[in-house]
Amino acid sequence: MKHSEWEQEVIQHIDTLKDELIELCQELIRIPSWDRETRGEADVSRRVGKTLEKRNIPTEYLCSHPNIENLVATWQAKKDGRRILFNGHVDVVPPGEDWTVDPLAAEIRDGDIFGRGAMDMKGGVAAMTIAVCALRDLEVPLNGTIIVNTVGDEERQGKLGTTWCIENAWEKIKADAAIIPEPSGLGPLGYAVNIGEKGPVWLRITTKGEKAHGSIPAAGRNAIGLMMNLLNAIQDAKPPSVAPPISREAIKAQFVKALGIDTKLLEGLLRGEGNTIAAGLEALTTTTMNIGVIKGGSVANVVPDRCESQIDFRILPGQKPQEMADFVNDQAAKLGIENLVEVEFIEAFEGNSIPNYEQNEIASTVYKASKEIYGPTIYFLVPYATDARLLRRAGLTSSVVYGPGNTTQAHVADEKISIDDLVKITKVHAVSALRFLGVKA
Ligand SMILES: [Zn+2]
Repeated sequence: MKHSEWEQEVIQHIDTLKDELIELCQELIRIPSWDRETRGEADVSRRVGKTLEKRNIPTEYLCSHPNIENLVATWQAKKDGRRILFNGHVDVVPPGEDWTVDPLAAEIRDGDIFGRGAMDMKGGVAAMTIAVCALRDLEVPLNGTIIVNTVGDEERQGKLGTTWCIENAWEKIKADAAIIPEPSGLGPLGYAVNIGEKGPVWLRITTKGEKAHGSIPAAGRNAIGLMMNLLNAIQDAKPPSVAPPISREAIKAQFVKALGIDTKLLEGLLRGEGNTIAAGLEALTTTTMNIGVIKGGSVANVVPDRCESQIDFRILPGQKPQEMADFVNDQAAKLGIENLVEVEFIEAFEGNSIPNYEQNEIASTVYKASKEIYGPTIYFLVPYATDARLLRRAGLTSSVVYGPGNTTQAHVADEKISIDDLVKITKVHAVSALRFLGVKA
């Protein structure tokens, strides 16, 4: 059978697997997996494994913690061929308040499945799993190997999940390309193939003053005053930035092209104070900072000797966390207070991206399949961190984030996923793997 015929067969078969896909997504949502004290993060992996085992795909469960099992399922259709990895996390954030539905019921309403993790990312895990099952059911003679890897601990930075797999099971998961099906939908703007992400750098800044009685302030040195001057200087100077992997103009041009809207309309959409689309575009293409904490002093009549602030910088691919610490120290030096300021890292991660993404095979393969099967698709970046950055750093540079669900809906109450999107994105996953690996002649 020709390549295109296999693709048609696979797409049709996924339609017949729709009920199984919905059921898998629902069952994964019904397993609570935010509490490390329970077996949730093991049970979700086991449930995914069961679906693959039913198709005789060999599975292994790798324990990184008594309650976390990372699944590695490997279908080697051809020895020595290329390898493609699907990696998805099984943990979720706690449901939190304000739900109007039961966050664990996985109720279906108007074509959406509701529940914690529906899109971040049990929907994506169900999609990648059924995509592989569809190829397997039809015994598509793939020219290589597909690996399904479900991991825990992503919401807590991945030390026991993807990082653990990289350090302890690299030979099992290493591949020529990876798809991480975190939600990448942009609502009416279509779907994104995310080719890069920023790195979070959290700094704790402390100013050191000298205590004195509040009635004679000049006898001391006010740590809060020092911090005010320093923060003002930091805000005025703005952190150093570099060219983003995709420029603002290139993103705008893609919107115009993918959505068929004209440039004027787009500019209109981006205008106005507090415009969230414009804010998002700014966040994706520059280094940002947020002063999130300020603490100091105890009572009005004492000159405070200590003040602490915490800043969350999001750096672009190509920047080093140390540059942010240097930036703060430089501002302190300009004020002549460098000896009174201490800067420490709370978190420090580099961002990264796929270089020359338009020429990258997996990125362009997913992009093309998404355009054909879903519709409007653009190359994009994410301003937060996913496990893709860990895989890229480990050498799996060709890692893209592409999965069902709307990006802005993560971690909110009444989280949901559209069943239509779930089915379409499953098709994109299957067709992308098929095209990337190819079929035996
Ligand atoms: Zn996620």
